Amino acid sequence: MLYSAGLRAVLAIALGWGAQAVMADAAPVSGEAIKAHTAFLSDDLLEGREAGTRGYDIAAAYVATQFALYGLKPAGANPDFYQKVPLRRRSLQPDGVRFEMRTKSGAQLYQNGRDIAVDASATTLDEVIEADVVFAGWGIRAPGLRHDDYAGLNVRGKAVVILEGAPASFPGALRAHYSWIQQKERMAAEAGAIALLTLKSPEREQFSPWERTRQARPLPALGWTDPAQREHAPTIKATITLGPEVARSLFAQGGRNVDEIYQQSISSPPRGFNLPASIRLARKSVHEDSSTSNVIGVLPGTDASLKNEYIVVASHLDAWVGPKGGPDTIYNGAVDNAGGIAAMLEVARVLSAAGGAKRSVLFFATAAEEKGLLGSDYFVAHPLVPLHDIVGAISVDGLMAFHDFAGIVALGAEHSTLGEISLVAARSIGAVHEPDPIPGRGNLALSDQYPFLRVGIPVLFPNPARGSRRGGGEDVAAWDEYESRHYHQPSDDMKLPLRWDVAERWGQYMYAVVAGAANGSRRPLWYEADELAAVFAPTAARVKRP
Ligand SMILES: [Zn+2]
Repeated sequence: MLYSAGLRAVLAIALGWGAQAVMADAAPVSGEAIKAHTAFLSDDLLEGREAGTRGYDIAAAYVATQFALYGLKPAGANPDFYQKVPLRRRSLQPDGVRFEMRTKSGAQLYQNGRDIAVDASATTLDEVIEADVVFAGWGIRAPGLRHDDYAGLNVRGKAVVILEGAPASFPGALRAHYSWIQQKERMAAEAGAIALLTLKSPEREQFSPWERTRQARPLPALGWTDPAQREHAPTIKATITLGPEVARSLFAQGGRNVDEIYQQSISSPPRGFNLPASIRLARKSVHEDSSTSNVIGVLPGTDASLKNEYIVVASHLDAWVGPKGGPDTIYNGAVDNAGGIAAMLEVARVLSAAGGAKRSVLFFATAAEEKGLLGSDYFVAHPLVPLHDIVGAISVDGLMAFHDFAGIVALGAEHSTLGEISLVAARSIGAVHEPDPIPGRGNLALSDQYPFLRVGIPVLFPNPARGSRRGGGEDVAAWDEYESRHYHQPSDDMKLPLRWDVAERWGQYMYAVVAGAANGSRRPLWYEADELAAVFAPTAARVKRP
């Protein structure tokens, strides 16, 4: 099946491809193909595609096979489509934690999972950490936002007590960025601290309750590991969440009221101070090393000079895994994210059939996104092509094909010219941009585009807008039911009422975005005076906002 001449002409004009439309002989994005990929990847046979499992490896082999069929090439000097991501599962030995707070009234022993919450060490099997305690506000140093909680504090060799989260005055994506515990650890380590003690204000408690942290934090956790890199980077030895009682009594020792500090932090950054206390943590951990794989294929660019620039299309191949108490124990992850991978595969197939684009396109099925963006984070730390040649990154996370859509929420669109490209792509399928309905959540910093954003690359994370229907008559019940009952559940499977004609339209939009970014006469650029660019890409070239 080919595009009708009319639609091809419209696309060619909309995307500015000029006379020799690169779509000439391309087969269009197929909803049936998206359905077939989604069905295979979310089949029970793949057992939920958890990172490090056989089911995941089968899914990876499937994606690599598709890449080969489309004529994609390994990235850079990589011999094949796989990038091995070394993983480390860390767990605590039974009774492996002994935590004491020492103050002028003596030493108080606190229990992990009841009074405090700490997980296993990612680096050290058996250790004792002792440090004096300093309160350091939010624990954020953000020159781009003229915010520095460490200004005037000496925290070298100390344990810093900080509020979880970030000020509400920070723009959504930056609030999410500075709320990441890994980011807090980086900033604290750079300031010279050796341990973090985190506090949950009542506001933070609403979406990260102490009760959940208390139970989940001591459980085994997964991270990527790179001993060579770790030796050179300053690290925090332990990050410990203090329960409400411990927090209250610690501040009371210093004649302070922690509830007042929480209250004050809503309007202005609380100032840091020394606390008359020290901690002692003795901890015994267990490490199990394994690996998983990113799957990466490149469609080489057709333009002699622009082919050295890359547009990344990232989509996570693993699925969420939760408790397995019910009758259905397989978290199939059909919508999240077999369907996203399926749409990405269709974009790769169609773009390859069209003869490629001017820039190279790097299709990236990421590993272990649900474990904390591990695969994409690893790639950015160990890039297969030079990071400065990656000029834009686009995420495909979720296949929200529950009702036809007239609107697209394109996260990141207001920050760079990727937004203009997305708008043209939206128009090509008769859709418009809609504002982010939940800007406070900072979703731009919560999926695979985030590691790319952090190194200054313009990013886009689009999804259909809920409830923006075309033609009327359809309701949003299926969408809402997915979000409330099936998201991150075993029931995210092919029994959901997905509309493959809508998936096809979504795939057409994704295709148009990717082709638009890869064919544009100029690379995606940050806008002048942009708040994200100020933080992540302070020296990058800018253009005027239209
Ligand atoms: Zn997802």
